[in-house]
Amino acid sequence: MCEKEKQTMICINCPKGCGLKAEWNGKAWSVSGNDCPSGEQYAIQELTDPRRILTALMRPEGSEKPVSVKTDRPVPKTRLMECAASIYQVHPKLPIAAGDILIKDLCETGANVVATRDAR
Ligand code: SF4
Repeated sequence: MCEKEKQTMICINCPKGCGLKAEWNGKAWSVSGNDCPSGEQYAIQELTDPRRILTALMRPEGSEKPVSVKTDRPVPKTRLMECAASIYQVHPKLPIAAGDILIKDLCETGANVVATRDAR
């Protein structure tokens, strides 16, 4: 578990941006400063298993014009580079519609890579 006993962070789950304080009591994190329960969930997730939505560009087969993509759920922050490298190795066939799943279960994270716009 994390050796740092106190952490501060800003909750990014809504525009209010509550300033969060987390303290480790030796067994669990306690969170304060959150105006709703999702702030506590956010802080504990960040401290124990930080994740991010990954955005990238894919080059469709036979096209010079890239298509923008993103994961449909956050992936572990420690695996972002591995996931990005895997995305760049795939060249999907055209046409592509926004929302199409272009890679399933990216690097066994459970996240799919979806197109965020049409490409023809
Ligand atoms: S703790 Fe709740 S109210 Fe505060 S920023 Fe996070 S989501 Fe918004």
